[in-house]
Amino acid sequence: MIPAPFAYYRPQSLQEAIGLLAQHGQDARVVAGGHSLIPMMKLRLAKPGQLVDLQDLHELRGIRNEGGTLVIGAMTTQHELIGSELLASCPIVRETALVIADPQVRYCGTLGGNLANGDPGNDMPAVMLALGATYRVRGPQGERDIPARGFYRGVYSTALLDGEILTSIRIPTPTDRHGWAYEKQKRKVGDYATAAAAVVLTMAGGACTSAAIALTNLADTPLFAQHAGEALVGTGIDEAATAEAARRAQRITTPAPDGHGPVEFRVHVAGVMVRRAIARARERAG
Ligand SMILES: Cc1cc2nc3c(=O)[nH]c(=O)nc-3n(C[C@H](O)[C@H](O)[C@H](O)COP(=O)(O)OP(=O)(O)OC[C@H]3O[C@@H](n4cnc5c(N)ncnc54)[C@H](O)[C@@H]3O)c2cc1C
Repeated sequence: MIPAPFAYYRPQSLQEAIGLLAQHGQDARVVAGGHSLIPMMKLRLAKPGQLVDLQDLHELRGIRNEGGTLVIGAMTTQHELIGSELLASCPIVRETALVIADPQVRYCGTLGGNLANGDPGNDMPAVMLALGATYRVRGPQGERDIPARGFYRGVYSTALLDGEILTSIRIPTPTDRHGWAYEKQKRKVGDYATAAAAVVLTMAGGACTSAAIALTNLADTPLFAQHAGEALVGTGIDEAATAEAARRAQRITTPAPDGHGPVEFRVHVAGVMVRRAIARARERAG
């Protein structure tokens, strides 16, 4: 399919990009790596009249550590995440980037695009919910921070207001003794998840002191399974605690019956992914 006609802009600064969005209102859309938006445009599921390309905004690229917070520019590609030495302190990001699509997609697809897209099938949002990340956005009214856990509203619906651009993702650096895992079940290599689970936890003296669990592609939005994480805290993460956490996580899922399988199957796979992710995170925790 061929996209509907559109005008193309390549601003040279964030301010210019924000100005273009303000000028053209709801008819304008930003494009980052284009690997979600362009397919939607080809299918005519998205028909922006004005496309504002963020490729030249170098201020939106790069990874740095700011006093204990990992700051990742929204235009950082998934490929760059995999190669980053700084992200060795937060290895779940690399583990997840490696199971997104294939190298061709990851060379272009950006972290910001994956997070701002609002597709519940995207893998990075659940990881950001589990890590307690914050999204920094800028628009005509200035800058604000939105917690990842409050960002997702529905399918392709987020807390971003018209004219706002996601500029960076801010992750509190996890302790160097934390455990992590992203477990993803997919039909074939490069596919979106049938179900996936992100787990980040800490242990001290044989007991779990904190645990965050989040889920991909099991509802209209990524899900933060708060009560599932709570089922682990204070336990040694034995079989009973793990089973209870998986049950609690499954309870909040509402997957659609689609090409990934019927509802009962997807809920079952969700439980398996949560149990596997907990076990692997427990093993990795120092
Ligand atoms: C074959 C294929 C397989 C894929 N498989 C997976 C997969 O398994 N898992 C997965 O997670 N993803 C998958 N993807 C999607 C891929 O990861 C995309 O690159 C990603 O979802 C979007 O990133 P992007 O930079 O390409 O964003 P774009 O496509 O450019 O933009 C996506 C949306 O986000 C908005 N947006 C982008 N950047 C910003 C910003 N900084 N501020 C505000 N809004 C912004 C755009 O306006 C658009 O609405 C796949 C894609 C393809 C083509």
